[in-house]
Amino acid sequence: MNHRKSCEICNIYYSSETYQGKMLMACFPANKDRCKLWIKLVGKKDLANLPIVKLRRKHICANHFSFNHFNRDKSKLIKSAFPSLNLSRPPLEDHLLENFPTPFGKITGTNNKFTHWFFLFTSES
Ligand SMILES: [Zn+2]
Repeated sequence: MNHRKSCEICNIYYSSETYQGKMLMACFPANKDRCKLWIKLVGKKDLANLPIVKLRRKHICANHFSFNHFNRDKSKLIKSAFPSLNLSRPPLEDHLLENFPTPFGKITGTNNKFTHWFFLFTSES
C-alpha cells in the first residue's frame, strides 16, 4: 500500500513518514454536487472525466482551504469546505462538467453519443 498522497493542485507529495500525518490531505467529496464544484475550482479537465470512486482516491492539501473551512481544532474540513486558496489554474468552464459524473471513466469525443444513450436507457428502465 502506497501511503504517499499528492495534491492535485500543487502536485506536492506528502508521505506519512515525513509529515507524521500532520499535513491534512482532503479527498474529493462523495457528494456529486460538491465534488463537481471542487473539480471546477481545481481546474483540471482530466478530473472531470473520472468517476467519483476514482476521485475519492485523489487529494488536495490544506494549503488550498481558508481557515474558516476547518473545524475548531483544525483537524478536519467542515462539510461545505471547498478549495479557494493558492489555486494554480482558472476554474473549468461549466460545459466541461456537463457529463459529470461519468459512469465509464474517460469520455472521448466519439464515446459521447454512447454515454447519452446510456443515460436515456437507464432513466427508462
Ligand atoms: Zn496543494
